[in-house]
Amino acid sequence: MAVVTRFAPSPTGMLHVGGVRTALFSWLYARRMGGKFILRIEDTDRERSTDEAVRVILEGMAWLSLEPDEGPYYQTQRFDRYKEVIRGMLDDGTAYHCYCTKQELDEMREQQTARKEKPRYSGVCRDRTTPREGVQPVVRFRNPSDGAVVVEDLVHGPVTFQNVELDDLIIARSDGTPTYNFCVVVDDMDMGVTHVIRGDDHLNNTPRQMNMLLALGAKPPVYAHVPMILGPDGAKLSKRHGAVSVLQYEEEGYLPDALLNYLVRLGWSHGDQEIFSRDEMVAAFDIHDVNKAASAFNPEKLLWLNQQHMMRAQPAALVPHLQSQLARLGLPSDNQELLEGVIVSQRERAKTMKEMAQNSRFFFTETVELDPKAVAKHLTAAALPVLQKVRERLAALAEWSAVAVHTALNDLATELQTGLGKVAQPVRVAVAGSAISPPIDATLALLGRERTLARIDAALKQSPP
Ligand code: GLU
Repeated sequence: MAVVTRFAPSPTGMLHVGGVRTALFSWLYARRMGGKFILRIEDTDRERSTDEAVRVILEGMAWLSLEPDEGPYYQTQRFDRYKEVIRGMLDDGTAYHCYCTKQELDEMREQQTARKEKPRYSGVCRDRTTPREGVQPVVRFRNPSDGAVVVEDLVHGPVTFQNVELDDLIIARSDGTPTYNFCVVVDDMDMGVTHVIRGDDHLNNTPRQMNMLLALGAKPPVYAHVPMILGPDGAKLSKRHGAVSVLQYEEEGYLPDALLNYLVRLGWSHGDQEIFSRDEMVAAFDIHDVNKAASAFNPEKLLWLNQQHMMRAQPAALVPHLQSQLARLGLPSDNQELLEGVIVSQRERAKTMKEMAQNSRFFFTETVELDPKAVAKHLTAAALPVLQKVRERLAALAEWSAVAVHTALNDLATELQTGLGKVAQPVRVAVAGSAISPPIDATLALLGRERTLARIDAALKQSPP
């Protein structure tokens, strides 16, 4: 049977790394098994769901290229279907109307607590045959009253729940709207989901969902409840730790593949391999190998992996990422050759694409602002005549290339009996505005002769400090 997985976020908070990892595991498993991956937006909680959260889910999934094969489905568009299933269950007796009032339920709970029993619905309306005047009933699922449900969880192993512990769940409120656990059941059934991979905060819902599926004549899927991601300090992941909208990682200049690589390794391993391309992840991932210990989020490791991915990527593949970071700095560029050249010469010095863009501004501007400190240090009275000579040599070059620039600067340093640094630093400050840039030959080759000479001229006009 073909594998069908789904990612079913509730748009009540911003999609963050915890949700992304669940999505990733579901997506990977479907891809690995040649199956289908479905995206379903669980927006039945209309008060807490927001359009903004839906947008972050859709844009986040697109940014990460975790494309669904089906969906997005929206639960709010399936209410007619849920109502139809509820009618069927009322007809066949797997569900019943419950007329208990809030006050009665409160009293029931108080009495049970006083008797030191676990509070649960007693089932008084199970056998009621007549409506109760003036009370709009809820609909409850008739949970089996004895026996046990065993969740054969792929991560946790078998987990047993006694049916007496599970009371009759409300599946429709008195206004007729279906409840969360019920919608999940109908959807998983209708969508043919074979593997439910989700956070282990849902494990307690599973026996109820399995009972409802069985009552509907459906075969429960295989479940895998993956452990939560904790903050680096072992506490619940919070905003401070990176539980921010996944799109913030895009803004911060992380590569989607690096973030996915980081997340796949939380709770899953493949020998001691740390760096995975997307294809390698798909080839190696198996949900059966995910372990049940919660793992801590480690921002430094994510940063390290990001640079590893930047170093390994084809420069052309990084171009759109650099472009979007440059656009944020108000420096849009579609000069493919320059963009690729900048990537190749800058990636060793930046851990994120944002940092790369920031370090590379001077490649994409007409003129540069000179950093006063760098000027004071490198554009001294003694340096300006050297810079003047550099200008002459560069202007006279027959061809403009890194090799030609390198030879010209080296020759000049030898003639002046000085180090290459004394020749290169003033040029670097003149063209980059600061004393930091990729190797000077590569920098000038990328900038081109015209901009190089114009910037040297502007620097020469500076009165020495
Ligand atoms: N909507 C649930 C959530 O966002 C997930 C439910 C499920 O995967 O079954 O936590």
